[in-house]
Amino acid sequence: MIIKIAGLSEGSHSYQFNESVNKLELGSPFSENITVDVELNKSHNQVILNVDLKASAVFECDRCNKVFEKKLNPVYKVVYFFGNEPEDNIDTNIVYLQPDADKINIAPEMRDYALLAIPMKKLCREDCKGLCPVCGTDLNEADCGCEKNGTDSRWLPLMDLKKKINNN
Ligand SMILES: [Zn+2]
Ligand SMILES: [Zn+2]
Repeated sequence: MIIKIAGLSEGSHSYQFNESVNKLELGSPFSENITVDVELNKSHNQVILNVDLKASAVFECDRCNKVFEKKLNPVYKVVYFFGNEPEDNIDTNIVYLQPDADKINIAPEMRDYALLAIPMKKLCREDCKGLCPVCGTDLNEADCGCEKNGTDSRWLPLMDLKKKINNN
């Protein structure tokens, strides 16, 4: 996950990397490899990377407990400046490089952005109907006909929350 910048001409360059999740120190929920398309733009005092990351992850649906795979595709930008890092640098998208740096390691940001792409809410599909609170039937597959005590889909977010609290 190293891009050599020593001797690289100014202007635009493209790269593609494919790395195993283990090598990136990412385990579950990520499956398969992570690929990135990198568009690098070099000028005399900075290098800008525009990265298109593709990962695959396996989750359990918050509503119906079904295991499903989801593609994650975060797109991000990192700016590398040649120079000393100011003490008040809080912008995580700016990385300072020594003036004689000859390479940049893109793995730390790949790892961070892959992790950030994990959704808070894990649903097998947006309109997942979940499980019947009475008999446990997967309501996406069948309607069990139970009396649901007036539970309708408007309460699903609350039920998700309750489930989460109970799980903890
Ligand atoms: Zn579901
Ligand atoms: Zn039921």
